[in-house]
Amino acid sequence: MIVTIDGPAGTGKSTVARLLAERLGFEFLNTGAMYRAVALVCLERSIPIADGDAVAAVPPQLSMTFRENRLWLDGRDVSEAIRTASVTEVASRVASNQRVREHLVELQRRAADNVNLVTEGRDQGTIVFPHAECKFFLTATPEIRAERRLAELIAQGQDCSLEEILADQTERDLRDQQRACAPLRPAEDAVLVDSSSVPVEDVLARMEALVRERKSIV
Ligand code: C5P
Repeated sequence: MIVTIDGPAGTGKSTVARLLAERLGFEFLNTGAMYRAVALVCLERSIPIADGDAVAAVPPQLSMTFRENRLWLDGRDVSEAIRTASVTEVASRVASNQRVREHLVELQRRAADNVNLVTEGRDQGTIVFPHAECKFFLTATPEIRAERRLAELIAQGQDCSLEEILADQTERDLRDQQRACAPLRPAEDAVLVDSSSVPVEDVLARMEALVRERKSIV
């Protein structure tokens, strides 16, 4: 069974997806981390993001492995390195590259072979797994999303203002929604979940109940 969770930045998708997978005993795939890994390598190798051919050449050279919710890239743990503000910004730009997407989509589909999976991203229910048995689209107001991100960055010891985060988030949302390939939008058959004023625990309980109900009839 495949459960997809899509939505804009800062809705708590990865936390919810990881916890949901744990509760269900499913595998968990964080597809944003894959775009972030490509961005990290582009930054490290000083590849100009505007050079579509050079960027598209990166993913086939990489070996990405998820182990215990950490991402290993060519044998090194990049879980923290992919969370910086510069990687975040570049990730949403490399994600507009059609050939980068094709490569990563292929890896994502392979990760779903013969396993039960909870996967989160922007296009999981629309493009990558259009036949997934259970699809969610997680939303929250821009202000609440930015506040959550600020708390996350402060916890990591990074210095940032709410205004900066809100501006970056708005730019990233627009880029994700307006790109030609795989724009961010809810799948027609996705269940919309607004997490603005609902505790994570309640969001999770609602989602888990729905997955279990679907699982019993598929
Ligand atoms: O979810 P996260 O913020 O880690 O994703 C980083 C960037 O990767 C997003 O801003 C988005 O542009 C891109 N992304 C995507 N498709 C996915 C997952 C992430 O385009 N399935």
